[in-house]
Amino acid sequence: MRKPFICGNWKMNKTWNEAVDFLGDFLPRLQGVDGGKVQVGIGAPFISLERMATTAKGSILEIGAENCFWEEKGAFTGEIAPNMIKAAGSTFVIIGHSERRQYFGETNETINKKLVALLKHGLVGVVCIGETLAQREADQAEAVVKDHITGSLKGIAADDLKNVVLAYEPVWAIGTGKTASPAQAQEIHAFARKTLSDLYGAAIADATRILYGGSMNPANVKELMACPDVDGGLIGGAALKPDDFEKLVKFNQ
Ligand code: PEP
Repeated sequence: MRKPFICGNWKMNKTWNEAVDFLGDFLPRLQGVDGGKVQVGIGAPFISLERMATTAKGSILEIGAENCFWEEKGAFTGEIAPNMIKAAGSTFVIIGHSERRQYFGETNETINKKLVALLKHGLVGVVCIGETLAQREADQAEAVVKDHITGSLKGIAADDLKNVVLAYEPVWAIGTGKTASPAQAQEIHAFARKTLSDLYGAAIADATRILYGGSMNPANVKELMACPDVDGGLIGGAALKPDDFEKLVKFNQ
């Protein structure tokens, strides 16, 4: 069975001391949550990673980065390498978010290089995929999702898929308050799993988690999580508020 993964994506929000304040409120709410039944993570700005990981030690909360570079070290001013993220106590990295495609020129090729690099350091890659509104209206949602999966995973060995999580995030639903209906989400998640099956076989496709992202909140989490191919959420806005994020983590209670 695929363990649900409820993963926050803080984007460019919270200073490191605001992050620590958040954890002071949020971590006690995780007491009694069975880490064997749900995985909980927060992707946060680089500068907060070490402090957050140290603060969260001993809890089930995992901390991750929202990006990385693909080189190991060297003259790449302003970039952060996967081994630095790992050394700061993070366990995962979100890569290929649509905001990075839109504002920072990310492509399947750069996302693939980042995935190769972070997997080498034993980090989990949360790989974002998903179509824009224009692409959906042009009936291209499946083609885009297939292109994002095949491009991002190019050359990744079957054995490494255990450290890959996909996050289907229809761009038109991110930060807009518009959620994909459970039927729309399920349709694309099933298609994404079939694409994985074509690439890696049914066993790996069945074992790989596919999260939904796009205005997931306490009001819609239950119906989205009830979809057979939705294995968790990548959550922006609602992960910034301890009350809301707690409700998402406890979606099945
Ligand atoms: C996201 O940024 O990954 C996201 C899904 O944001 P929101 O939940 O705010 O739509």
